Amino acid sequence: MKRSKALVVFSGGQDSTTCLYWAKKHFEEVYAITFLYGQKHSHEVEIAEQICKEEGIPFRLMDVRFISQLSHNSLTDTSIEMDQEKPADSFPNTFVPGRNLFFISIAAVHAREIGAFDIVTGVSQTDFSGYPDCRDSFIRSLNVSLNLAMDEQFVIHTPLMWIDKQETWKLADDLGVLDIVRYRTLTCYNGIVGDGCGHCPACKLRRAGLEKYLESKK
Ligand code: ZN
Repeated sequence: MKRSKALVVFSGGQDSTTCLYWAKKHFEEVYAITFLYGQKHSHEVEIAEQICKEEGIPFRLMDVRFISQLSHNSLTDTSIEMDQEKPADSFPNTFVPGRNLFFISIAAVHAREIGAFDIVTGVSQTDFSGYPDCRDSFIRSLNVSLNLAMDEQFVIHTPLMWIDKQETWKLADDLGVLDIVRYRTLTCYNGIVGDGCGHCPACKLRRAGLEKYLESKK
């Protein structure tokens, strides 16, 4: 049986778009929330809005650009060159400290407002670039905190937590949306839609997963 109402934290990238369609399969009503946080490629916000429009999903855009004023990172600061590899002893400079903490907390307040207590996010600790706010332990802890903060029973769903990029492509295919995810979404750090620039860290990860998945289908 489908549960009733879910709110998806939606960026217009591969992972959250796959989650949007996952939510459509598992919930009667799906809502989306997208964040403008000062990302260099705010084109992803337009992509997110367009996909929602086509799917008839209510779309809420939140301006949280204060996040980019709090720390220096290469996703929001054009003067910083992006790390191509994960440094051995720290996070790559694409890490935006607190991003998922803010996003999911704000999403929960909006979810409560619209009467949705299921929140869906595309975080994964399998392929992770070292981001601590993508780990399962953080999400579980935040889930408890949000329930205590608002005296509610939210459930945060993370369909991608334990799967890698190849399996994420398989999930999109199983949901019947492989082409939508492949050609419409924006994951590339250089802002190129679909298969992307091919050489930024996000593209490399996405492309390697796609190639492995397509190979496994032969
Ligand atoms: Zn790229």
